[in-house]
Amino acid sequence: MKEKLQKIKERAIAEIEASEGLEKLGEVRNTILGKKGELTAVLKGMKDVPAEDRPKVGQWVNETREAIESVLAQCTRKLEEEAMRLRYESEKIDVTMPAEQPAKGNLHPITQVRNQLTDIFASMGFEIYEGTEIETDYYNFTALNTPQDHPARDMQDTFYLSPEFLLRTQTSAGQIHVMEAKKPPIKIISPGKVFRSDDDATHSPMFTQMEGLVVDKGITLCDLKGMLDEFVKKIFGKSVTMRLRPSYFPFTEPSVEVDVSCFQCGGKGCKLFK
Ligand SMILES: [Zn+2]
Repeated sequence: MKEKLQKIKERAIAEIEASEGLEKLGEVRNTILGKKGELTAVLKGMKDVPAEDRPKVGQWVNETREAIESVLAQCTRKLEEEAMRLRYESEKIDVTMPAEQPAKGNLHPITQVRNQLTDIFASMGFEIYEGTEIETDYYNFTALNTPQDHPARDMQDTFYLSPEFLLRTQTSAGQIHVMEAKKPPIKIISPGKVFRSDDDATHSPMFTQMEGLVVDKGITLCDLKGMLDEFVKKIFGKSVTMRLRPSYFPFTEPSVEVDVSCFQCGGKGCKLFK
């Protein structure tokens, strides 16, 4: 009997030590220590052992069991540690690796041009005034000397929000707010979105405008021309020339439009601007 137990123990330990993986170890445990296991079978056969030998045989069986379980526990621990190590290894993160760079956005072209323009006028001493996109009929029209029956109102199809409120059709409403709040000298530019009920290939219901207002003693149309010339040269280049062309607008007197020489051919005539 002792020999038999010794063989079971040796084989069990050999199998346990050869086991790769916790699953296999569980199988080995079952074949030896399980309900139908070899050692269990020996215990079940105790009834055939003479009564006087039973304590001794019982002790052998227990010793065998303990020896096997001890090796089993040891191997289990080893395999668990190994599994843990592999897991750490596979989940290892190199925190020194450079992070993925998010794609950078750009400013909208209109914002870029707007910044360019405000920089130029700020360098000439203008303050920036940004009004509100929702205005009252009074500030958008009446206070700018365009009462209900004024022809200028026909040129601008207005989005009315209510009889009193509207989406500003121009940035000029800002002029009134500034002049109400401030005594001359006044030197502002007012950039911003304006809205008109107009939509075709060359008109957008929303577009960006920038206007200037200068109120001071001794200010003439020459100052306007000089400032516009400076602005045109900064935007299109020093070689570009500018002229004022008399025009008619129902809301300004005198009224002029600005022409700029072609920056491609210098005004000789080319396909770009005809
Ligand atoms: Zn040209």
